[in-house]
Amino acid sequence: MSHRVLLVEDESDIVSPLVQTLGREGYVVDQASSGRDAIAAASRATYDIVILDLGLPDIDGLEVCRRLRAAGYKGAVLILSARSQEIDRVVGLDAGADDYLAKPFGLAELLARLRALLRRTSVRASGASAGDHRLQVDVDAHRVYVGDHEVALTGKEFDVLAVLAANRDKVVSRSQLMSEVWSEAWYGSTKTLDVTIGRLRQKLEKAGPVERVVTVRGVGFRLEG
Ligand code: CA
Repeated sequence: MSHRVLLVEDESDIVSPLVQTLGREGYVVDQASSGRDAIAAASRATYDIVILDLGLPDIDGLEVCRRLRAAGYKGAVLILSARSQEIDRVVGLDAGADDYLAKPFGLAELLARLRALLRRTSVRASGASAGDHRLQVDVDAHRVYVGDHEVALTGKEFDVLAVLAANRDKVVSRSQLMSEVWSEAWYGSTKTLDVTIGRLRQKLEKAGPVERVVTVRGVGFRLEG
């Protein structure tokens, strides 16, 4: 099934190549060039992802995001912004966005972010039907359960687990985890990742007989059980 994307952007220089690329990748794309159009479009159709520019001619993108969430929009929101300050990222996440991409960005980077967002959404959808030995990863609530017992995780531990859970029984490479969980470019060391995985393992072991995070030497990690 094709994923539906609402692209909210007023600059045609950005819109045209994006629409072309997204179409080629199999996404069904609708466009809106103002905040009002975006809110109206989201009330008419169900989208998996809204790609949302912050600098719109009428309503600020962050306000559009808040209004979409207030209206019950459940899909992912990826914010695009020419402003690259850290503050924007934080404020964006507070407004209900899931990820943030600074302009200028490469199309490959954008596509990778969309895939990551869709994986998270599919974890969200599959969480409720998982078996007993499986961890229940509730991405919306940012919570993990073993049976009725909640496992308290830090933000990064949760993010790492969410990526692994979305790829159950498959190997996830170290570089994929680094780019999806820490987003920014990293240089060389993945020590932070190892520390996070170590803590995550301890917490899962304490929680009971559930899936384990297995190291696949020289490649990455796999959630199996
Ligand atoms: Ca703009």
